[in-house]
Amino acid sequence: MAETAQQLDLGWLLLSPGEGRRLDLDVEIEPLLLAGQRYAPAGPVAARLDISRTTGGYSLRLRSRVPLEGPCMRCLEPAERMVAVDGREVDQPGGGEDLSSPYLDGDELDLHAWARDALALALPAQIVCRDECRGLCPQCGENLNEAAPEHGHEAEPDPRWAALRELRLE
Ligand SMILES: [Zn+2]
Ligand SMILES: [Zn+2]
Repeated sequence: MAETAQQLDLGWLLLSPGEGRRLDLDVEIEPLLLAGQRYAPAGPVAARLDISRTTGGYSLRLRSRVPLEGPCMRCLEPAERMVAVDGREVDQPGGGEDLSSPYLDGDELDLHAWARDALALALPAQIVCRDECRGLCPQCGENLNEAAPEHGHEAEPDPRWAALRELRLE
C-alpha cells in the first residue's frame, strides 16, 4: 500500500523558478462534520498536485475526486457522493496577504489541511442517497422511500380548538 502524504517538503524537488512538477499522491482526508454527522471517504484518496516554482515562492494546484460517505441528509440512510476538488494556492513571500498560503511554511506544504479545506469548499449543498430521495415523514419519522405511496396522517386538530373544548367543559 502506498504511503499517504500529509506533510510534504517541496524543497527536495529542487525546482528552479519557472520549473514545475506533477505529483500523484494518496491523501488522507479527515472527516467533515456537517449538521452533527460525519462525512468522509472510506480511505485515502488519489490526488494530483501540480507544483510551479516562482521566484522565491510557489504556485500550486490540487485536484482530486473524493467519494464522500455519510448519512443522507434527508433519510439518514448511507449515501455516497463524488465530490470534485480543485484548489489553487499561491505563496509568494513578501507579496502580501493575498499571495500568502496558510498551507505553506517555506517549502513545507500541509497537504492534509489543504485537502480537507478544499473538500469543504467543494461540497454540494446537500449530500443525499439519490436526487429523488423523499426523506423522512415529518410526523412519524418513517422513511418515505420505503413507505406506501399513500403514507400520510390525519390532520391534527388545531390545539386552540382543543383548549376551547376544555373551557366549555368547565
Ligand atoms: Zn436519502
Ligand atoms: Zn408518517
